[in-house]
Amino acid sequence: MNDYIIRATAANETVRAFAIRSTQLTAEAREIHHTLPVVTAALGRLLSAGAMMGSMMKGEKDKLTLMMKGDGPIGQMTVTVDSHGNVKGFPANPAVDIPRKYAGKLDVGSAVGRGLLTVSMDLGLKEPYNGSVEIQTGEIGDDLAYYFTVSEQTPSAVGLGVMVDTDSSVKHAGGFIIQLMPDADEETISSIEKAVSQSQPVTAMMDKGMTPEDILEHLLGTLDLKITEKLPVRYYCGCSKEKVASALATISTQDLRDIINDGEEIEVKCYFCNSAYKYSIEELEAIMAERE
Ligand SMILES: [Zn+2]
Repeated sequence: MNDYIIRATAANETVRAFAIRSTQLTAEAREIHHTLPVVTAALGRLLSAGAMMGSMMKGEKDKLTLMMKGDGPIGQMTVTVDSHGNVKGFPANPAVDIPRKYAGKLDVGSAVGRGLLTVSMDLGLKEPYNGSVEIQTGEIGDDLAYYFTVSEQTPSAVGLGVMVDTDSSVKHAGGFIIQLMPDADEETISSIEKAVSQSQPVTAMMDKGMTPEDILEHLLGTLDLKITEKLPVRYYCGCSKEKVASALATISTQDLRDIINDGEEIEVKCYFCNSAYKYSIEELEAIMAERE
């Protein structure tokens, strides 16, 4: 089954909602980065949220980047998504192994730690939009709900989950975002609060065979839910030798000179997909010349 996102409205368009199945793309992220289970869960949650947020953008070339920089052992996680359902990401440290909270429950919060969650959107305007909030629990869903409420003034409920199987493969990954528009009434708000607080975790619902449609129906079914769109989503990098070369721009001039003086071509890997690109001395000299 392929991954997809659904978009919906409820309560006479005073509520908008998104739900995703992201099992495949999370499995792909795990394969690329060789993540251990708690990192698979953390990155999968952030990729799922990023993918849904990407589907909120309208412009052809719009891009959104989520950066979660906590003081936990994972270090920074970065997720980038475009408006065409292409999402990618990487953790600073994929090989984190920490004790489980209790039987079967991965401790994502401790692996992420506390710090800053930054959302940066390039919507083709002069300046990209940047919003940062303090990481609340490191569980990611809570942190994004806090971000939407505080930074975008949109009260939101966010549920994200990744179920890692006993063999460390990804069994289920998915999530939902439910957002209140300014004209949502009290009755709608309390109905959503009740449904979300009483609901099972996303992965438990998926384990019962529930689809993204079923999950929104379960949460918003009494509020005249209307599913408006179904969009494919995938893990896709789209890097090129030229784009990866721009990463060389972060190398100091002295270091670049040293590499050139060594006289051997170098290999640079894309952070998002691990594709390796080789740069000859001539190419490095061209980069150096551009700098000078
Ligand atoms: Zn790449």
